[in-house]
Amino acid sequence: MRILPSRSRWAAALTAVALLTTGFSAHAASGAEAGCPADGALICSDFEDQTGPVPSGDWQFTTPDCQGTGTAAVDTEVAHSGGRSLRVDGGTGYCNHAFVASTADLSSAGPVVYVRMWVRHTTALPAAHVTFVSLPDTSQDGRSLRVGGQNGALQWNREVDDATLPAQSPAGVALSRPLPTDSWQCLRFSIDTTAPGLDTWLGDELVPGLHADGDPTQDVDQQWLARTTPPRPTALRLGWESYGTGDDTLWFDDVTVGSAPVDC
Ligand code: CA
Repeated sequence: MRILPSRSRWAAALTAVALLTTGFSAHAASGAEAGCPADGALICSDFEDQTGPVPSGDWQFTTPDCQGTGTAAVDTEVAHSGGRSLRVDGGTGYCNHAFVASTADLSSAGPVVYVRMWVRHTTALPAAHVTFVSLPDTSQDGRSLRVGGQNGALQWNREVDDATLPAQSPAGVALSRPLPTDSWQCLRFSIDTTAPGLDTWLGDELVPGLHADGDPTQDVDQQWLARTTPPRPTALRLGWESYGTGDDTLWFDDVTVGSAPVDC
């Protein structure tokens, strides 16, 4: 009886190892390609460098208001690229706000700041106002430019004056889009820091209700443009805030912020 594998078995085993290695490399490379724009970025994270369940290094857990049951962790079971993503379990109510903040200072990004993330969630956006992306904004004395939902569809909200984009009229909400559940969605923003200008893409669609320009449009950006000071976001937080009702489980992956447009 043979104890050692035959030459052919060794060859087969080596081939299998080679295939596995090649497959792994291709997988990792696709994540890197999806993650980083060619001309550099202030944030470019696929979360593959996170070593444990607790966000660390470039990403830090934070509860800006008060801490309740909301949690955030590096997830090794659900990922858009590679084997890791950021998971947030956000609960209903003010104290269950939970975020993971990038340590990157975004003050130098611009004049247009481009943000891209892949996001996945389990629960349809509620009727009540919620936030899952929060950008501290020095033009609002550090209060935040927020992306989330209201009336079941995506919206922007400015913390300093509670203005929304689009306006939360039925016509305005109809020009936004729900955030589909249980699938990875590519969400991109461009934020002009010198003039009124804000755009949002869900997948490849430029969402008409999530568009602000210099020309006030009823039901869309008329309310938003009442404030003429352009935003100056300085940081990025991913997580969950609910102010009335609404809980959700979300995953974020392949997040970039920089001064140049980036593909999904
Ligand atoms: Ca990843």
